Amino acid sequence: MSDCLFCKIAAGEIPSNKVYEDEVCYAFHDIAPQAPTHFLVIPKAHIGSVSEITEDNSGVAAHIFEVIAKLSKELGLDSYRVVSNIGEQAGQSVFHLHFHVLSGRDMTWPPG
Ligand code: 5GP
Ligand code: ZN
Repeated sequence: MSDCLFCKIAAGEIPSNKVYEDEVCYAFHDIAPQAPTHFLVIPKAHIGSVSEITEDNSGVAAHIFEVIAKLSKELGLDSYRVVSNIGEQAGQSVFHLHFHVLSGRDMTWPPG
């Protein structure tokens, strides 16, 4: 999508602090970290949110979770939280599917 911030970040048109990249997904540090470790994993192809995952594109979501598992091991994250906000009321502010990976501090439940 031409006017999507995360499409532009995935394409390298807007700079970001890269954690990992392959042909399907891109991971980068959040610009406003909410924990000592806070990065985002996004598909390179535009998907609006979890609500747009279908039979046709769910392989991308599965791949992203494999990448999260791999990166968390490589980064030595013993405990971490994966979050995806869907819709404005839940806190979604960028409408391109992304999974937050947060780690390095005590967390509360339920989330606010
Ligand atoms: P959401 O609020 O949609 O769940 O998450 C969007 C996340 O993207 C937020 O945590 C926000 O800090 C991050 N973000 C927004 N704009 C940028 C940007 O230009 N670069 C980076 N690295 N992160 C961004
Ligand atoms: Zn996009």
